[in-house]
Amino acid sequence: MVVLLGTGGLVLQLNRVYIQQQQSRLADKGQFFQREFSATARVTTTKLKQLQEQTHVKVAVFDARNHLLFPAGGPHADLIDSVIEFQAKPNAGKSEQLRVAGHSQTAYLFRQKPLTFVLYTPQQNLWQPFWWQGVALLGALCGLAGLSGLIFAGYVYCERRSLRRVQQQLRQIGKQQPPAPVLLKPSDHYYALEQTIAQVNQQFQAQVALAKNERRNFTRFIDHLTIGVLLLDIQGQVIAHNAAAAKMLDQTISRVPHSYLNDVHDFTLSRLIKQAFATEKSQHAAIKLVPEPERYLDVNVVWMKRQTVTSTYQVAVLLYDMTAVKQIQQMQLDFVSNVSHELKTPVTSISGFAETLLAGAQDDPKARQEFLEIINTESKRLAALIQDIIALSRGQQQPARLETVALRPTIEKLLVPLQQTIRQKQIHVQLNVAQSAKLMTDRQKFEQIVKNLIINALVYNRTTGQLTITAYPQKNGWQLDFNDTGLGIGADDQKRIFERFYRVDKARSRHQGGTGLGLAIVHNLVTILGGKIQVTSQLGVGSTFSLYFPEKPQAVKLTKN
Ligand code: ADP
Repeated sequence: MVVLLGTGGLVLQLNRVYIQQQQSRLADKGQFFQREFSATARVTTTKLKQLQEQTHVKVAVFDARNHLLFPAGGPHADLIDSVIEFQAKPNAGKSEQLRVAGHSQTAYLFRQKPLTFVLYTPQQNLWQPFWWQGVALLGALCGLAGLSGLIFAGYVYCERRSLRRVQQQLRQIGKQQPPAPVLLKPSDHYYALEQTIAQVNQQFQAQVALAKNERRNFTRFIDHLTIGVLLLDIQGQVIAHNAAAAKMLDQTISRVPHSYLNDVHDFTLSRLIKQAFATEKSQHAAIKLVPEPERYLDVNVVWMKRQTVTSTYQVAVLLYDMTAVKQIQQMQLDFVSNVSHELKTPVTSISGFAETLLAGAQDDPKARQEFLEIINTESKRLAALIQDIIALSRGQQQPARLETVALRPTIEKLLVPLQQTIRQKQIHVQLNVAQSAKLMTDRQKFEQIVKNLIINALVYNRTTGQLTITAYPQKNGWQLDFNDTGLGIGADDQKRIFERFYRVDKARSRHQGGTGLGLAIVHNLVTILGGKIQVTSQLGVGSTFSLYFPEKPQAVKLTKN
C-alpha cells in the first residue's frame, strides 16, 4: 500500500514538472511571437500562419474591443473571458490554463497594442503519449499477474496436498495403525520428511510389537505359575492377574483394568492390600477364606519400589494355597490322636490284667487262665495295630518297585494261611482268574491289598457264605472284583470306610481283631500303584470291592487317607 501511494505521488509530481515545462516552452514561443511582431508592427494573416507552423502552436488574435481577428471563425468564444480579464492587467505576458473547444489547453497571452494574442497548445499529461501502451502494459501485467496467481495457486495446492499426506501418515502413526506407504514423488519438497517419518514409524511399530510380545510372554509366564498373582497399579487397579488367582479367589477376573475390590471380597485380604498402599510397605498374613469352599491362603502383598515414574506395577499380591498343607497337618494330628487312642485300649488292658495277676490272681487257676487269654488277645491286637501303622507309613515312604506279577498264583498263595478261617466259617471261595492274567506292579503292595480285602470278605461274611474273586481284562489294565455275601455296608458308611480308623460297627470290628486301618491301607496302596478302588454294597446281601490296576503304573501318588 505504502509503495502504491509513494509511486502514485511520484508520478503526480513528475507530471506537474512536465506541465510546467510545457508552459515555460509556450511562454518562450510567446516571447518569440512578441519579438517578431514588435519588429514589423504589421500583423498579417500570412505571418501568423507562418509562425504558427514554425512554432507548432495555435494563435488567436483579438482587437481592442475583443473581437476575434485571427483565425476567422473557430472555437474561440470561450477564450473571450480570459482575454477581457487579461486586458485589464499590465502589459506583461501570462501563461494560463484555458479550456478551448471543451479541451484543457496551455495558453500564453500577451498584448501588442491594440491587439491581444493568445497562443495555445493542447495540454498533455506526462502519461498521455503512452496511454495505449499503458493500457496494453496494464493488460499484460494483469495477464502476468493472473498467470503467476494460477502458478502460485497450483504450487500452494501441490504443497498442501503433500502436507496433507504427511499429516495423514502422522495420524496413522498416532492411531498405531500399520505404516502408511510413501505416497510422495521423490521430487516433492516433503519427500525426505515423509521418508523420515516412515522410518521413524517403522521403528515405532517394531517397538510396539516388541512391547506386545514382552507383555504376552509375561502374561503366559504368570498364567503358568501355581501361585495366585494379582498386579495392581498405584491407583489399586488390577492390571494383570493369572488363572491361579482367579481360582483361589473363586472369581472371574476381567482383563480390563479395574479396582481390586471387584475381585477381593474377603475382608482380611482387602485390608492387607489397603495397608500396603497406606504404609507403602509389604504385608504378609495367613488367612482363611470363609465362603465355601474353605481355603487357607498364605498372602504376600509386596510393595514394589518405584524405579521410574512410568512404572506400571506398584503392588503384587501373591497367594499361596495352603489348603492341602493344612488338611495334611490336620490329618496328621487326627492320626496321632487316633493312634494314641487305639493303642491306649490294649496297652491299658494288658498292663491292668498283668497287675491283677501279680497282685494274687495268678494263684486262682481259673482267673489266671482267663486273664492270660485276655492279655494274649490284646497283645495280638496291639501287634496288628502296630503292623498296620507300619504298613501305612511304609506304603507312603517306599516307592513302588515294579515287577510282573501273575495274579492267580499270587491270590492262591495268599489264601493258604487263611484256610483255617475259611473252613471255620465254611466259606466257599471261587477264583475266576485266568492263569495268564499278569500285572506290572509292586508285588509287596499288591499282596497287602489283596490280603486285606480277602480278610475283610471272610471276617464280615456270614457262615457258609461265598467269596468270589474275579479278574477282568480291561483297556490297558485289569479289574479285580472281591465279592462277598456278608453283612453289606450302608450307603453313608460306604463313603467313609476308606478313612483311617473308621469302622461301621466298632464293637464287632474290635471283636474280630480289626484295627480300622485295613481299607485305609488298601486305598493308599491302590492309589500309589496308579489304580482305583470302589465299593458297591447292599446291607444284608453282600459287598463288592472293585479294583482297577493299569498294566503299567505311570505315576506314584500319595493319598490323603
Ligand atoms: P477293620 O480293621 O475294622 O476291618 P477296615 O478298614 O478293614 O477296618 O474296614 C473298615 C470297616 O469297613 C470295617 O470296620 C467294617 O465295618 C467295614 N467293612 C470292611 N470290609 C467289609 C466287608 N467286606 N463287608 C462288610 N463290611 C466291611
